Amino acid sequence: MSFYDVLNRFKDFDYDSFFKQVTGAAVQKIIAKNRLSDMDYLSLLSPAAENYLEEMAQRAHRLTVQHFGKVIFLYTPLYLANYCVNQCVYCGFRADNQLERKKLTLAEVEREAKIIASTGLKHILILTGESRRQSPVSYIRECIEVLNKYFTSISIEIYPLEEVEYAGLIAAGVDGFAMYQEVYDEEIYAELHPAGPKRDFRFRLDAPERRFRTWRSVFHRRECARSWGDLCPGLR
Ligand code: SF4
Repeated sequence: MSFYDVLNRFKDFDYDSFFKQVTGAAVQKIIAKNRLSDMDYLSLLSPAAENYLEEMAQRAHRLTVQHFGKVIFLYTPLYLANYCVNQCVYCGFRADNQLERKKLTLAEVEREAKIIASTGLKHILILTGESRRQSPVSYIRECIEVLNKYFTSISIEIYPLEEVEYAGLIAAGVDGFAMYQEVYDEEIYAELHPAGPKRDFRFRLDAPERRFRTWRSVFHRRECARSWGDLCPGLR
């Protein structure tokens, strides 16, 4: 089942009736649970849950420390290009806005990388607008190869890709992904994205799942290779 199917399940959901039957006792029980269902999470958004914000914050804090420890993840964004063929109504970079467009050369990427790395930052997030002509995947890959020399972690926040393209970027060194969906209501989404490939709600919504499938298969292959290597060192 894809996330789109989950979304559709809630399309005509009667939130008012659902929220009315959530009690404070039910919220307390949910906060104490180890595993929460989607309906549990929804209950935590009910008016009855408002009185338990502190308990929820403490639980969330405990889980954060349990999973990540006391760490702060510092990164900086680096815009590779601001060319864009989309017309998102809320964005200054949209295609019909007249502004100076720029795409970094590989030498400029390297210069930026050196300056950023000299501050001690090890993680970088690279961004582009959506223009497969100006910022094709091959260009992004070349930039990643330059950035690999300076950073231990490279994340991307670019247009949605096909699985094979994600696989190429993971192979090049990408280990993190960010993508904003902006809105999950299909009708409002269509109003906000009147033209360009980003208008395709489903392709964007499904991008994290394509990434995850790619990610899983890449790591599965790596783990298999490692296991075989352990069993048969000659295969390494
Ligand atoms: S795709 Fe991104 S950069 Fe392009 S117009 Fe939309 S929000 Fe702006």
